[in-house]
Amino acid sequence: MTDLTDRLAAGEELSDDEWRFLIEGDYEKQLLFYRADEVRRQYYGTDVYIRGLIEISSYCRNDCLYCGIRRSNANISRYRLAEEEILACCKQGYELGFRTFVLQGGEDAHHTTAWVEEIVSHIKEKYSDCAVTLSLGERPREDYEIWYQAGADRYLLRHETASRSHYGKLHPQEQTYLRRMECLRNLREIGYQTGAGFMVGSPFQRTEELIADMRFLQEFRPHMVGIGPFIPHHDTPFAGYPAGSLQRTLIMVALSRLALPKALIPATTALGTIHPQGRELALKAGANVVMPNLSPVNVRGQYSLYDNKACTGQEAAEGLAALRESVVAAGYRVAVSRGDAVQTE
Ligand code: SAM
Repeated sequence: MTDLTDRLAAGEELSDDEWRFLIEGDYEKQLLFYRADEVRRQYYGTDVYIRGLIEISSYCRNDCLYCGIRRSNANISRYRLAEEEILACCKQGYELGFRTFVLQGGEDAHHTTAWVEEIVSHIKEKYSDCAVTLSLGERPREDYEIWYQAGADRYLLRHETASRSHYGKLHPQEQTYLRRMECLRNLREIGYQTGAGFMVGSPFQRTEELIADMRFLQEFRPHMVGIGPFIPHHDTPFAGYPAGSLQRTLIMVALSRLALPKALIPATTALGTIHPQGRELALKAGANVVMPNLSPVNVRGQYSLYDNKACTGQEAAEGLAALRESVVAAGYRVAVSRGDAVQTE
């Protein structure tokens, strides 16, 4: 096992059998997590970066089969934040110590290119020492360019699965794997710190798909990697499927850290949702980012991607003091800085 993790951290390619062993083999997983933690400390020490997550709209034109805010779900009430509300979130976040704001939302037709451009410019004018991350789904390359020119620093767009046939089982026909990959390439070329990522335990996912995800990460080398368990939402076609497991998700976090030693890897809300210690365990397995919720309290429950999504306690921006304590208890410290990725080659 140690030989494999060393080779992975050295950037080597592994065979199918070697990947299969790392993902589902019978070995002491604590050793894998320990090794991932060592690699993370090499580049980032004990720093944990915090991002203020602002969920700007729960309207979505897409129909991802796993997602609670998919357009076919008529059972949720939708909201869209106004510019002033977003700026008020940033103000509160800045005072709390956040130096990155993540604007995430469904693919909302009301979000014109100019509207997003203006918000990005305003945030960057007011908080020039902060980074702005966008996570607004697939858009034409020109939109990404305009927002980058306006000052957006990073973009999160999970690839969801690196297997084309699997992608087709998680999305309706009009949402294509090729388009998703094209968007990711565009983002990277434009100059964004780019985030990819995937769900663990999504319906129809086999070890083959996870191997494809790892190979994609090795080849695309994103600056950020978001990995969380799939969690069913009761109003989606995948309502009856089981959630992804904590252990398997931690393994994928650790393998991603080894494959991409310099990446920014969040301990995701989904992990915190399936297990009370999920976030701390992810930090100990190679993650180095947490993204507490900075959305207005009255809309938090409405951004329901999956059932029982955590948005209180340490998942909430107001719970930052408690979060700091639990980060310290896990052996790390919350850094007040933009927390950019260390230079990739
Ligand atoms: N619309 C943007 C996009 O597609 O990138 C950002 C919002 S989207 C809801 C953010 C992420 O939520 C997705 O990339 C997906 O991986 C995750 N997600 C959606 N439904 C989920 C579920 N049921 N369980 C776990 N994660 C889920």
